[in-house]
Amino acid sequence: MALHDRDRIFRNIYGVHDVSLAGAQKRGAWDGTAAFIKRGPDWIVNEMKASGLRGRGGAGFPTGLKWSFMPKADPRPSYLVINADESEPGSCKDREIMRHDPHLLVEGALLASFAMRAHTCFIYVRGEFIREREALQRAVDEAYAAKLIGYSNSNGWDFDIVVHHGAGAYICGEETAMLESLEGKKGQPRMKPPFPANVGLYGAPTTVNNVESIAVAGEILRRGAAWFSGLGKLNNTGTKLFQISGHVAKPCVVEEEMGIPLKELLEKHCGGVRGGWGNLLAVIPGGSSMPMINEADCQTLTLDFDALSKLKSGMGTAAVIVMDKSTDIIAAIRRLAYFYKHESCGQCTPCREGTGWLWRILSRMEAGHAAKSEIDLLFDVTKQIEGHTICALGEAAAWPVQGLLRNFRPVIEARIDQYTASHKQAAE
Ligand code: SF4
Repeated sequence: MALHDRDRIFRNIYGVHDVSLAGAQKRGAWDGTAAFIKRGPDWIVNEMKASGLRGRGGAGFPTGLKWSFMPKADPRPSYLVINADESEPGSCKDREIMRHDPHLLVEGALLASFAMRAHTCFIYVRGEFIREREALQRAVDEAYAAKLIGYSNSNGWDFDIVVHHGAGAYICGEETAMLESLEGKKGQPRMKPPFPANVGLYGAPTTVNNVESIAVAGEILRRGAAWFSGLGKLNNTGTKLFQISGHVAKPCVVEEEMGIPLKELLEKHCGGVRGGWGNLLAVIPGGSSMPMINEADCQTLTLDFDALSKLKSGMGTAAVIVMDKSTDIIAAIRRLAYFYKHESCGQCTPCREGTGWLWRILSRMEAGHAAKSEIDLLFDVTKQIEGHTICALGEAAAWPVQGLLRNFRPVIEARIDQYTASHKQAAE
């Protein structure tokens, strides 16, 4: 399997071509947009459904279906909120879209908003993304100046985009925390239901979508749902931006077909695992919140939603973190546990307290200064968090630890034995 250049949606992801509106139009952006709008919102939603596109922000929910949940006749305004808060460790694709192909996002925002009868779209940009916000704002300004968006624009749907710069809290990437933050409140997740499609931003119907999910919409409509659904695998269609970091020769962001084998992705685009394929220890396949996959399962692993969920992991944002045999795997997961402890908003007790427990137990296990019975205790703590919180940060904190315990229990036991033996020897 190899994605042909002609099938790439992001043709300037490395920023080597002209980023401006003129450059984007040469690559096909904004071509036929007005004609798509003339065909009506239902046509757009149906095309998106037929394409099989699943949300690229992590959950993998079918995008067209999500759009169809928005009310068709509601006296309240509807809103599209685009989640550009990309803060998951390992994830670094949306920033490349904003830096180098922002017009695909602006055009997609118009098409998606029209499909959901929204006249206003907010793009919530991660606080640390200064250059990305500037590049995106430039593209929005260009689109306004060219009358592609705005009041009485040439595409036939009055439409405003507000680029909103966040303040740098990971939890604002959770969709309801994002809405709270946009409303000027502390970014803390809301209880669901009600879901945003019913009561969202300012109490009005709202859909929150990831940057990549929106940025591919224009190309899907231009080339047709059948083209997109013909790429990838059944139920896992299309192309995807993969982000590979960690112990590979050349970390990169690359667009490939869904379902590409891990080995092929690493060897074709990243120069392979540092020290060779045989030096692989494990990968975290979808951003730091996903449970790791061990080396044996990596041999035949394909990167798609279904294959990864069968292995009790997940596709997430397709941020592949590669770890070779030099990795202290306990230390790696302890660092992630600290991240989630730090980013917990503190509303729910299992998350607020449990994430600290995970980090503290792992810190002792890293040193070997723990009892073997605490391995089961640690697993129990993850289970006390998972499914008992308002938002998915609870699972995000619990799953990497569960992945460690499932795959590397003997390593933890050996570390404890080593510590015990060295202390016994010192005492003697
Ligand atoms: Fe906040 Fe954690 Fe509860 Fe989410 S799970 S609402 S981050 S305390």
